[in-house]
Amino acid sequence: TTKQLIMSEKLAAIGEITAGVAHEINNPIAVMQGNLEIVRSVMGERADEVRTEFRLLDEQIHRISQIVTKLLQFARPEEYAGYMERHAPEDVISDSLPLVQHLLNKTRITVVREAGTSRLLLMNRTELQQVLVNLVVNAIHAMPEGGTLTLRTRDEDREGRQGIALVVADNGIGMSEELLQKVFDPFFTTKRRDGTGLGLSISQTLISRQGGAMSVESATGKGTTFTIWLPEAD
Ligand code: ADP
Repeated sequence: TTKQLIMSEKLAAIGEITAGVAHEINNPIAVMQGNLEIVRSVMGERADEVRTEFRLLDEQIHRISQIVTKLLQFARPEEYAGYMERHAPEDVISDSLPLVQHLLNKTRITVVREAGTSRLLLMNRTELQQVLVNLVVNAIHAMPEGGTLTLRTRDEDREGRQGIALVVADNGIGMSEELLQKVFDPFFTTKRRDGTGLGLSISQTLISRQGGAMSVESATGKGTTFTIWLPEAD
């Protein structure tokens, strides 16, 4: 409808302004960081007298720059794609697991890692982490009685492109054929008020924005396997 159209134009405009402002804030932050270092080194030993003040300045500057980065991620995803770097997928898995360790500790789930690639991905590390965390949290929910969470990587080529498959598999409750059709739909959840139904739809968007694809196989009572495919970095 016209109303929705106006709304989405407004959101786009807000996004543009936010991105512009965030971008402008980056430069003065860099200047502040640089000058703080100079002051500290000129002060030499006397810098110790204001150690706490220096630490606070460091922390707060760091905080502003983190907020700016988040705003940019949100407001201008294409710009954020500029932060694409080469990474070993196994390293990204290793970085993501500590983020869910507190949840894993409360369960009887065994984590199995099967590393099968030495290829590097060109990708946005934070976004892939976000996707992995979503998948692992879903797997934990699917195995209330415990089970095995498998994180596997392997070389996989698709349509003549070299790439990597990253598999997150559980042997939990699984899904029916009907449920399986809906998992990537925004706001589809079976978790009632505990779920948002956004995890998988956002994950799929993030992966396809990086030139990859996400798929799922499942069987009721047997478990679920999510596969992320991403192209190799040239
Ligand atoms: P949420 O977790 O908030 O419900 P998601 O988009 O992450 O949102 O997942 C949507 C639905 O897909 C879940 O509510 C659940 O029914 C199903 N689902 C996702 N992952 C699994 C899994 N590993 N095993 C069984 N069902 C799953």
